[in-house]
Amino acid sequence: ASKVAIIGRPNVGKSTLFNIVTETRKAVVKDQAGVTRDIIIEPVDIWGKQFDLIDTGGITEAGDLFSKLIKEQVTEFLHSVDLIVAVMDGRVGLVPEDRDIIRVAKQAGKPFLLVINKVDKAQEEEIAKADFYEFGVDIVSASFEQRRGVGDIIEWITKNIPENPGTVKEGMNITIVGKPNVGKSSICNLLLGVNRMLVSDVAGTTIDSVDSPFVYNGRKYTLVDTAGLRKSAKREEDLEIISAFKSHEALRRSDIVLLMVDGTIGPTDQDARIMQSILEDHKGVIVVANKSDLGNKEVPEYRKTFREQVERVFHFFKDVHVVFTSAKTGNGIEDLFETIEKVTDQINFRVPTSELNDFFFETIRKAPAPVYGTNNVKFYYVTQTYQKPPAFIAFANHPDGVTNSYRRFLVKNIKERWDLHGLPIRIFCMKSR
Ligand code: GDP
Repeated sequence: ASKVAIIGRPNVGKSTLFNIVTETRKAVVKDQAGVTRDIIIEPVDIWGKQFDLIDTGGITEAGDLFSKLIKEQVTEFLHSVDLIVAVMDGRVGLVPEDRDIIRVAKQAGKPFLLVINKVDKAQEEEIAKADFYEFGVDIVSASFEQRRGVGDIIEWITKNIPENPGTVKEGMNITIVGKPNVGKSSICNLLLGVNRMLVSDVAGTTIDSVDSPFVYNGRKYTLVDTAGLRKSAKREEDLEIISAFKSHEALRRSDIVLLMVDGTIGPTDQDARIMQSILEDHKGVIVVANKSDLGNKEVPEYRKTFREQVERVFHFFKDVHVVFTSAKTGNGIEDLFETIEKVTDQINFRVPTSELNDFFFETIRKAPAPVYGTNNVKFYYVTQTYQKPPAFIAFANHPDGVTNSYRRFLVKNIKERWDLHGLPIRIFCMKSR
């Protein structure tokens, strides 16, 4: 992951910034080789941008930089990071040690942001910043105490961070969830029985023993956490909590979740709750109506009725993909994989930024956001995050004024424009001036 270093003199607010962005109390403490002071590293995921945030704590502090040895080490360290955020004290103003810090940081040649903290009165912003303009670098004024300016810092980081190389993973991770007796084990056995790959076939990957790689139609997939599924014995009551925890862990590791229901019964409120947690984790999802060999209803009629049930029970996610299968006869498995491939393409879809902005502004021109108090909500820019499935950030003057229904309206338009039906799409709104 990319590394973002926070540097600065003691007491300027480095740790406060670190804690706000990572939402932790300092947790991980590591020793950087050759440097006796501790530095703290914490992984952060903001809008799909992953990076390690580093509180350099002591190593870049004050008088240290006057020692040649320390200076060399710090320089070397800063060469190893991707972005540098230097925090200065706006109440004290520019002091000689700050000049040293800025000089060393600039020498590292990385994107560099100067944060002038402790500017508690917004109207003093320009005065506080004035001291630092001579360095010709990006400057943000902030009051960490009042949580002001942090959004600007995060925005700067996400804009400047190099795109993640991305872990090269073959195939999608698929998880099967659903109530007992709907046919999860049966489908699992059906898929793995014929298509199972030996672990040794999977080159260069470590496969968790509970995960089962397989091939369908020449494409590779991994069925996540099949250990629980393949156990035919009924689980005991006190194992439920553990299995609930494990299934959440499995959910997080998966790209596509198959929410399996008994097609003869239809989805229930319990399925609605499972769906909620899938959506909270922002995963691709397909409702699989199993046991379609049972019942004596006419097929089109049965499917229509089932679809209506889906729209009622999953009223918060009406356009979800639905596939009908029979684990007994094998019917519908081909449909299932066609849908899996479609969802895979949707999940990986990226909209070119200019095309996105053109469409977005055309859409809001036709139907502007409702007035927020006495203010018009004005959008400036919209960009897709690195998250999968696709998510977007819209910068606006009054993000609080973007109502949920307007957000749904935007999502609906985006889905229609780029054929992203059946996928949970998110739009974040952020303040910008
Ligand atoms: P799980 O608890 O969700 O893993 O469900 P199982 O796979 O154990 O299936 C429960 C019962 O339903 C078993 O008796 C299966 O043989 C049966 N079953 C599963 N899928 C189908 C299907 O598509 N059609 C029919 N007729 N029976 C099925």
